[in-house]
Amino acid sequence: MTGEKKAPILDWFRLLAAAMVIAIHTAPLADCSPFADYLVTRVLGRVAVPFFLMLSGRYVLQADARRWRAFMKKTALVYAGAIALYLPLNLYAGGMSFAQWIRAILIDGTFYHLWYFPALLCGMALCRLLLRAGRRTALCIAAFLYLIGLLGDSYFGFAVHVPAISRVYTWIFQVSVYTRNGLFYAPVFLLLGTMRLQMRHSALIAGFCAATGLLVIEGIWLYCSNVQRHDSMYLMLPFCMLFLVALLVRRNAGRDVWMRNAAQWVYLLHPWCIVLVRGAAKLAGLGAILIENNLVHFFAVLFASFAVAALAVRFWPMRRMQCSRAWKIVDLGAILHNAHVLQAALAPGCRLMPVVKADAYGHGAVRVARMLQRRAGVRAFAVACLPEAETLRRHGVRGTILVLGYTPPQQAVRLHRFRITQSIVDAAYAEALDAQGVRVRVHLALDTGMHRIGVSSKDEAAIRQICMMRNLRVCGVYSHLCCSDDPAARQVTQAQLTAFDQAVAQMRRDGLAPGATHIQASYGIWNLPPQTYAFARAGIALYGVQSDNKAVLHPLALRPALTLQARVASVRMVPAGDGAGYGHAFHALRDTRIATIVIGYADGLPQCLCQNGGQVLLRGRRCPMVGRMCMDQLLVDVTDVPSVAAGDVATMIGVCDGVRIDALEVAARCGISTNELLSRLGARLESVYRAG
Ligand SMILES: *Cc1c(COP(=O)(O)O)cnc(C)c1O
Repeated sequence: MTGEKKAPILDWFRLLAAAMVIAIHTAPLADCSPFADYLVTRVLGRVAVPFFLMLSGRYVLQADARRWRAFMKKTALVYAGAIALYLPLNLYAGGMSFAQWIRAILIDGTFYHLWYFPALLCGMALCRLLLRAGRRTALCIAAFLYLIGLLGDSYFGFAVHVPAISRVYTWIFQVSVYTRNGLFYAPVFLLLGTMRLQMRHSALIAGFCAATGLLVIEGIWLYCSNVQRHDSMYLMLPFCMLFLVALLVRRNAGRDVWMRNAAQWVYLLHPWCIVLVRGAAKLAGLGAILIENNLVHFFAVLFASFAVAALAVRFWPMRRMQCSRAWKIVDLGAILHNAHVLQAALAPGCRLMPVVKADAYGHGAVRVARMLQRRAGVRAFAVACLPEAETLRRHGVRGTILVLGYTPPQQAVRLHRFRITQSIVDAAYAEALDAQGVRVRVHLALDTGMHRIGVSSKDEAAIRQICMMRNLRVCGVYSHLCCSDDPAARQVTQAQLTAFDQAVAQMRRDGLAPGATHIQASYGIWNLPPQTYAFARAGIALYGVQSDNKAVLHPLALRPALTLQARVASVRMVPAGDGAGYGHAFHALRDTRIATIVIGYADGLPQCLCQNGGQVLLRGRRCPMVGRMCMDQLLVDVTDVPSVAAGDVATMIGVCDGVRIDALEVAARCGISTNELLSRLGARLESVYRAG
């Protein structure tokens, strides 16, 4: 595969397919040879629409319900806009009853090319339903529906001979003008879009050539037999499509958003362009060439459509995110998934206490906590400090909010007012807090060997004393493991667990209720067998990544939740021999195209990333960072990805066209943990949330 040149050819083919649709509607070869025109546009050109359907199936049918709903909504909106756009032509033509309007909107489209949208919407809904029965069953049903459609389309001449069948089609055609619709035509292509042919390249080419050859023979035979009612559907078309798309996908890399958008505009607008070209030709007295010569007419419409599409792409209002400079996308669905996976890995009776300190490790504490409260029934959260806890309360987070760190005892009133649970960091702290005179819920932190905070687990007297204090309500006892990420340090962890268990047992013997017990954090879940405590405090695992590259004993199928992206501000040539960036830390050994990305260390990326081989994803390719990272910008060598242009989106963490840079890779290059990397992501970044 390495020798093959890859490019965004799927998007290029979209534009070609849009041109084929124009050809179908203008019959460029009809006046020199009707047969040739039929063969080129009405047989071979019929790959265009299935191609669009297969891409939709590929990107949407396998995605989650949210993505699917968003697609349906967007398609319906585009269709509504298109209906409005063609309303003047409908009104000019006149003569549609109310019932005909309804039928047109729901099934046939209100203008001749707009059938595609109801077919897409209906086909998508049907496929979504069929897929519940499994992919194979769905495909069988869709293939059967396609055969029914085929008999009402290219093979209609055979159907009419059987009276019973003929009656069925009479009925079908009362409802729908053609069988090329969302029931008989679209589903099979949408589903084929989800298939991956596991074949050698040469086998794909052979398959494609054979299927296309047979398609042409089928087309010629049907033409000669004179049986076609319409010419959208062929027996060989799905086979031809399967190979064609597989070939294109295999050579595809990255995307070309301009081509993609332009293709959609060409499809939407070309019938208007046909009308306009004809009108203009008549006005200018050029009818003889621009209308009567089919080939010239085709090129005139093609040119007009592409020109109008280019204008539309240029001036259509940009989406909000396309206006941003640098942003993080938080996949709440991934966090919910991780919460379920983690909960399932815990012992029965042990519940997840999500750690949402440091703004949920950069993921947005309020959004994350509220989502987990609503969708996963979580009733206890941990944060690092009082302000974090207060923010959660003010935004409607109920249940236990435990502050894991120090809160000045003078803040006892606030702890009390917001019903926040405070950790007891040592015996003196407990006394000071108790002396404030307000009742405060606390979890007693025990020092079992980390020697950071907590009362020594061996100090029975202190523990007893704290439990007796008037104003402290001890609702829990916990400790923290300091070496659980290192399987080689098992004895340390085991000693901590034993010390903790002994202290808790001693409390019980002393008649003190320890309340909720907890000791595991993420690595305690990954590296220990399920523990029978009340809670497990998961931080980094909830966000779907490990802290570092060390292997864990019980890996879990977690999903990274954060994507970090920024825009390309500018692209320029730096001639060989020149330097770039502060201190000319980069020295161009060849003529180098440099893209400037608008994200820097003030946004939380470690400055050393640039010198340590950091990369960004652009158009599905890894591009090396060069020079020294600036506060707000960084430089990337894009010499090998010539299509990169200003306005492109660069991915620092996340996936771009199947290529991934994960937080772990970035953190490892800088010699830090992902905890540090993610929690440092700056407040200047915009946050975009994907619903859970
Ligand atoms: C931060 C923290 C956690 C969460 O740690 P992860 O390794 O991110 O899961 C748990 N407990 C305490 C006391 C912490 O400070």
